[in-house]
Amino acid sequence: MRELIKLNKNYKYNLDNKLVMHLDPDYVYIPIKKNYSLLVKNKDLVLKEQIIMENNLNKIISPISGVAKEIKMRNIAGASVPCLVIENDFKEKTKSMRKKSKIDSREALISKLYEYYFKYIASVLETHKINNLVINGIEDEPYIFNNPFILNNYCKEILAMADIIADFFAIDKIIVAIKASDTLNVNKCLSIIGTYPSVKLSLVDDKYLLGNSYFLKEYLHLEELDTLVLSAKELLDINNAIKNERHITESFITISGPCIEKSKVIKVKIGTLFKDIIDKNVKLTTPNVKYILNGLMTGEECDIANTIVATSTKGIIIIPDEKPQSEVCNNCGLCYKICPVKVNPKKVMDTGKISSNCLDCGLCSYMCPCHINLRKYLRGENEE
Ligand code: SF4
Ligand code: SF4
Repeated sequence: MRELIKLNKNYKYNLDNKLVMHLDPDYVYIPIKKNYSLLVKNKDLVLKEQIIMENNLNKIISPISGVAKEIKMRNIAGASVPCLVIENDFKEKTKSMRKKSKIDSREALISKLYEYYFKYIASVLETHKINNLVINGIEDEPYIFNNPFILNNYCKEILAMADIIADFFAIDKIIVAIKASDTLNVNKCLSIIGTYPSVKLSLVDDKYLLGNSYFLKEYLHLEELDTLVLSAKELLDINNAIKNERHITESFITISGPCIEKSKVIKVKIGTLFKDIIDKNVKLTTPNVKYILNGLMTGEECDIANTIVATSTKGIIIIPDEKPQSEVCNNCGLCYKICPVKVNPKKVMDTGKISSNCLDCGLCSYMCPCHINLRKYLRGENEE
């Protein structure tokens, strides 16, 4: 078992326990991926959940109804990509509702998972004998709260869906993994799991990387091949697909940090511009700030006026705009010592030889006493 790190968190973020909705953006921006055909043209009317791009394997749907406009460049995870702009008509018009099909067998469930693009989960359930289903209610990034928040707000739906999957696939155990320090979820889960005899609660340490499926299985002493880990968000999305025939058009993001009045988890349409979300929902307490997309450990500074929410986006941390002075390496060896997969970041920095084992977890950069941005070297980028 690897020694994981308890992070020393410096900021006390005041989290609003109420879920905030930002589901009516004026525009959404949908990335046009390589090898996808665009199925709509300028000024076309688009319905919510209408397929707007596709290739042989996948289809991309619109999160809103409205009018297709021009193509604009927008940023996702630091990369600038062409996006189809859809102007919202605020009518949420969808095609006539699909007929709900009855999920009465494992085959029907698998087919529904494929239909709603949970291909990886469907193929694991089809090809492996799963004995443990872990509901991951942990968030790896220290100041992102999405998963615990979703578990707390949708605990009944998530447990019910896990129970359906366990039932069809004869899975013995359902384990809800949450941090022992997450008292809100401990109490919430304890009040509900009594109805599910196969569900057990597992309280884990507040250590970095336990939100990662690989480390979580190891920590819980579960076998790699007979264990399926699904996040609270994945189970909620599956629930919406199976029970309500709904595609994923919305996501949850955290806006937190020491430069705002209250940290929030916000439900947003995929493709919304971060600037719109922040302007309407967040009050800054200081003028000179910078925005870190997806968290302090694995994130990057971003321009909110150009960055959009993608399905994998976790949120934004707003911090003071002070650049820590990068110092010269003092050869303390800490970066190597704390690396969970035993990469030597200093050696990578000195030699330029990148290691394919690096998880890009950000621990080495976070812990370096000389504030060296080791992640840039590990990804083959030079420091500014
Ligand atoms: S933690 Fe920072 S200062 Fe210490 S050896 Fe690594 S790069 Fe150098
Ligand atoms: S970013 Fe890579 S090298 Fe640094 S601690 Fe994480 S896994 Fe190790």
